[in-house]
Amino acid sequence: MLDLTGKNAFVTGIANNRSIAWGIAQQLHKAGANLGVNYLPDEKGRYEKKVKQLVEPLNPDLILPCDVQDDALMEEMFKAIADKWGKLDILIHCLAFADKEYLMGDYSSVPRDAFNKSLDISAYSLTHFARLAKPLMPEGGSIVTLSYIGGVKVMPNYNVMGVAKSALEMSVRYLASELGPQNVRVNGISAGPIRTLASSAVGGILDMIRQMEEVAPLRRTVTQEEVGNTAAFLCSDLASGITGQIIYVDAGYEIMG
Ligand code: NAD
Repeated sequence: MLDLTGKNAFVTGIANNRSIAWGIAQQLHKAGANLGVNYLPDEKGRYEKKVKQLVEPLNPDLILPCDVQDDALMEEMFKAIADKWGKLDILIHCLAFADKEYLMGDYSSVPRDAFNKSLDISAYSLTHFARLAKPLMPEGGSIVTLSYIGGVKVMPNYNVMGVAKSALEMSVRYLASELGPQNVRVNGISAGPIRTLASSAVGGILDMIRQMEEVAPLRRTVTQEEVGNTAAFLCSDLASGITGQIIYVDAGYEIMG
């Protein structure tokens, strides 16, 4: 049985009740894990308020601010995790960003600063997380990130985010190779399109969802809960032989020609 009792799991990327990270946090909690989560700090504290209200029923041990572009906050977050738990078993990387205006039209229009920002937040952050988590996982652990098929194939309007996901997926393999000897497994989930804050920034996302419903073998898109279940599986001993993989949770869309 899938049992994460006593495991310390830190979940990043909850913005609201539609977030994939929220689906994952709920499934990890259901499996018995102790939870910690982050919120993205902003001037008006909107995310902080929303995330705190949302996660309250899961009784998290930690609710910490983290902007992955702020190195000091990143260090503080991992120090707080170390102080509270001593060791970390599960780390969920479930965040991404690209300026909306570059998630439509010509890919080549993306300027250097927008390209760098997108790659920094969406891809480099996983590597940074892994570096900070490594000393907290001396006897093993599991790191899971979220990707999309637009990182391996051209999808309408995904543009710079596709390039970021490509870097993210290759980072999964390099990190899995590096951390495997200390029994830390690193995997990605490539999810089908789900309506969230982030996905609504991608031009034509509703068309993508409609196309899934027509073309995917299961004739539907997927839910947060299904992605959450796969994340919980990947973090459990049931997946002890799996690392460096990108698992598609997309109702089978990826196999279609
Ligand atoms: P979401 O908007 O709910 O989550 C995105 C999160 O990224 C938010 O919590 C936001 O606060 C966080 N974030 C943005 N910039 C940040 C920064 N600088 N520092 C820290 N956090 C930051 O949307 P989502 O769809 O749940 O996205 C979660 C992950 O799932 C992303 O990696 C996304 O690319 C991936 N994904 C989404 C879909 C989809 O269709 N929704 C499909 C495949 C993969």
